[in-house]
Amino acid sequence: MKTSKKNPLDWLRDAHAMEEQAERMLTATAGRIEHYPLLRERLLAHAEETRHQRDDVRRCIERLGGDTSLVKDVTGKVVAAAQGLSGMFVTDEVVKAVLSAYAFEHMEIASYRILIAAAQLCGDTETVQTCQAILLEEEAMAGWLAEQMPSITTQYLQRSDQPGVTAKH
Ligand code: MG
Ligand code: FE
Repeated sequence: MKTSKKNPLDWLRDAHAMEEQAERMLTATAGRIEHYPLLRERLLAHAEETRHQRDDVRRCIERLGGDTSLVKDVTGKVVAAAQGLSGMFVTDEVVKAVLSAYAFEHMEIASYRILIAAAQLCGDTETVQTCQAILLEEEAMAGWLAEQMPSITTQYLQRSDQPGVTAKH
């Protein structure tokens, strides 16, 4: 296989592993949040979108004759589990969760921009369309987080000052 075709297929596999990791992180984080219901709902809604993204990416890989790499998916699962656990040990968990989610969305945005350019060069219009649709969802999620960041930060700090009130999640 030519490098100009092999790289895009590898990047699709990376994207598949990334979505598996995203789904676990979003679900684990949402499961720990109690006092920020808007954030929890948005994380769960994006987890549902993420499962569709993962399946759509898998269909692109299969159409190109590839299979989804197990090795990377396993690594992603371990990383996601570790990140879910790490929240238990920080006092500003909800703030760190928003920070991580925002950073993760931007990694996804970059990945799909790269995939779109690569698939365009290969003339793979179905992959272009799939990645463009996913890109819109990632941008919407990143935009929502950016918009909510000040309010979540403020709520966290205000809750921190109230005796007997849980602020961290
Ligand atoms: Mg995604
Ligand atoms: Fe995402």
